[in-house]
Amino acid sequence: MQIIDRIYIDGAFVTPHGEELFDLVNPATERVIGRVRLADAQDARRAVAAAKRAFSAFSRTDRRERIDMLKRLHAAVVAKEDALFEAIVEEYGAPVSRGRWMARHASNVLIEAASVLEDYAFVREAGTARVVMQPLGVAGLITPWNSDAGFICGKLAAALAAGCTAVVKPSEMSAIQTRVVTEALHDAGLPAGVFNIVTGRGETVGAEISAHPDIAKLSFTGSTRVGKTILRTAADTLKRVTLELGGKSPTIVLDDADFDAAVPLALDAGFMNSGQACIAGTRILVPRARLAEFEHKIVRAVAQIQSGDPRDPRTGIGPMVSGKQWERVQHYIRMGIEEGARLIAGGEGRPDNVGAGWFVRPTLFSDVRNDMTIAREEIFGPVLSIIAYGDTEEAIAIANDTPYGLQAYVCSSDTVRANAVAARIEAGRVLINTLAHEPAAPFGGFKQSGIGREYGAFGIEAFLEPKALLGAR
Ligand code: NAD
Repeated sequence: MQIIDRIYIDGAFVTPHGEELFDLVNPATERVIGRVRLADAQDARRAVAAAKRAFSAFSRTDRRERIDMLKRLHAAVVAKEDALFEAIVEEYGAPVSRGRWMARHASNVLIEAASVLEDYAFVREAGTARVVMQPLGVAGLITPWNSDAGFICGKLAAALAAGCTAVVKPSEMSAIQTRVVTEALHDAGLPAGVFNIVTGRGETVGAEISAHPDIAKLSFTGSTRVGKTILRTAADTLKRVTLELGGKSPTIVLDDADFDAAVPLALDAGFMNSGQACIAGTRILVPRARLAEFEHKIVRAVAQIQSGDPRDPRTGIGPMVSGKQWERVQHYIRMGIEEGARLIAGGEGRPDNVGAGWFVRPTLFSDVRNDMTIAREEIFGPVLSIIAYGDTEEAIAIANDTPYGLQAYVCSSDTVRANAVAARIEAGRVLINTLAHEPAAPFGGFKQSGIGREYGAFGIEAFLEPKALLGAR
């Protein structure tokens, strides 16, 4: 049983003013494994004040100093990779292969930001003017539970690279992972106050950060619903806001696709992170003329996917993060059946091989219409919808007929055709015959999947404001 009763403010682990205790549960066993004492609004204000004090000196550090700091942070997180991996599996229930990737991703994002910073043009010319990219101020970074350390480190990396100081508000449900990552970041020995990490509830600590006049920039990853609330709150002080929100990403299987490649790609895209991924490809668009063939192959492939003990290396899908999330996924499975979609794999309830734990059966619906609830709303679990289309025009129309626009996948044997389709998809990223991540490329959503971009030079730019100097040359 882990007791977490410290938050991180001004370079030190301190007791929060907040007194609420929150249980941390292993989702694979439903056992309580820890308890966190949550910060409150007063703690948030203290953290903002520390970050504000640190900003004056930190914003004037030069590129080389910040690259050095990012490298130290990277080394410190690498040194804690095993502890982080353990926490990810124990507290989040990620299958071991995914958990290892997540633990490594948390350090990778720091070194990737250091490398982008090497070449970033802070000073440019525009006509006769000199344009200087200036750090915005104190950044509020609010992160979700589905990749705790990755989001904390990724947002922090971009903010620090730009010369901003930060207050991080991670999810209350990932406090064990947050503790490991905070201890690692502390070991890097950055100046006090440059980053502060306060775990607390969204409605208290998150709301305080979103409203605080000394926060100049907000970067939020989470649900579209909360993102809209944050944007409204931030409007009062005109904060710059980056929102990375939900998705309902299409996997467009073109009629020339090789199904032996497309089926595993569609399943990996859909069941990524146990289905708890904003970028999951949850709508699989299949040519009607080849629907039976596709269904046959995908049903056989799903039968091989194990949903169960995350520590078993054969497991592809771990538990849902909480009982609430499990109930929500069950609700959508029932709704799919009620709305007339045809269940071709999985269904309600737990998989046969498990007793306890918030496990879901890998579920596939076919004959889904794009106006059904399961095709429109983000389920955030391993539940996929197959939607048949007539021709490519219809496939593109269905793919774009969604309030979201985070990511899309295109499978085809013809790269030229795939590119032509990709060009017409309204999404921040389109992946053609691949699931590979590219850290140098921007990431973010069209439409209600968000505002702004993370990663690469675009990610650093989100923490900077251009200032034009006229007569300076
Ligand atoms: P959530 O929106 O409930 O919470 C995210 C964070 O916001 C948490 O730290 C939470 O405490 C905080 N929060 C809640 N209410 C708040 C408020 N009123 N003011 C300020 N902060 C508040 O999301 P979640 O359930 O933790 O994560 C799942 C969601 O995140 C999914 O919708 C998913 O699509 C989205 N997500 C998006 C991306 C992306 O990059 N686009 C990545 C991962 C997850």
